[in-house]
Amino acid sequence: MKLEVGAASGGAPNSLAVRIASMRELIAVAAREAGRLPSDITLVGVTKKQSREAVLAAIEGGLSDVGENYEQEARQKYAGLPVRKHFIGHVQTNKAKAIVAAFDVVQSIDRLEAGRSIAKAARALGKPIRTLLQINISPVERYGVLPQDAAALATRLRDDEGLAVDGVMAIGPNSSDRAAIAQSFEQAARTLRAVGGEVLSIGMSGDWREAIRSGSTMLRIGTAIFGAR
Ligand SMILES: *Cc1c(COP(=O)(O)O)cnc(C)c1O
Repeated sequence: MKLEVGAASGGAPNSLAVRIASMRELIAVAAREAGRLPSDITLVGVTKKQSREAVLAAIEGGLSDVGENYEQEARQKYAGLPVRKHFIGHVQTNKAKAIVAAFDVVQSIDRLEAGRSIAKAARALGKPIRTLLQINISPVERYGVLPQDAAALATRLRDDEGLAVDGVMAIGPNSSDRAAIAQSFEQAARTLRAVGGEVLSIGMSGDWREAIRSGSTMLRIGTAIFGAR
C-alpha cells in the first residue's frame, strides 16, 4: 500500500522521516556500543495525541510499528494502516474485543482477567494476537504484575488460555537517577528469562539508552520522534 501523505511534492523527505532516520542511527550506535545488533531492536513509534496525518507521515518515513494507549483513539487513527499496531495502555476487560480488533500486539497484560478477556476476544474474532506481560518495576507505576508473579501468570495464560505470550513490557522509573533506571531494567531482563520469550519491551524517550544496555529488543518512543505532546 502506497501512502501519498507525508512526502513533500518535490520528493524531499518529511521532517518526521528525518527524525525517524536519526533516531534509528542513534539506536544503532548505542546497540553496537553495547555489543548488540541494531537489527535486534524494534522501534515502536508511540503516536498518542498525534494526528492520523502525522502517523501517515511517520509510516512514509519508515516507521513499521506504532503504539497507542487508548483503543478509542486508535480506532480511526490506525484504520487500514499497513503497519504492526501495539496496544500499550491499560486493558479494561470490557474493551477487549475492540482492542483485539484494532491492534496486533497487546503489550499490557498485567493480570489473569486481562489475559483471559483478550484470549476470548481473539477466539471470537478469529484473529491471532501476540501479547507481552506488563511487569511493574517502578514504585510510581499503577499497573503491572509483580516480577515475582510474572512466570506463573505466563504459564496460566499459555496453558489454560492458549495465549501467545512473547515476553515482557515495563515502564521504567520516572527518575533522573540513571543507576536506578538501569537497576529496574535489569530486573525486567531477569523477569523475561523467568517468563520465557524473546521480546523485552523497555525504553522510552528518556531512558532508551539504559534500556538497550539492559537488552531491550523493543523501544517505545513518542516524544523523541513526534515532539512534545
Ligand atoms: C507514552 C508512552 C510511551 C512513549 O513515551 P515517550 O516518553 O513520549 O517516548 C511509551 N510507553 C508507554 C506505555 C507510554 O504510555
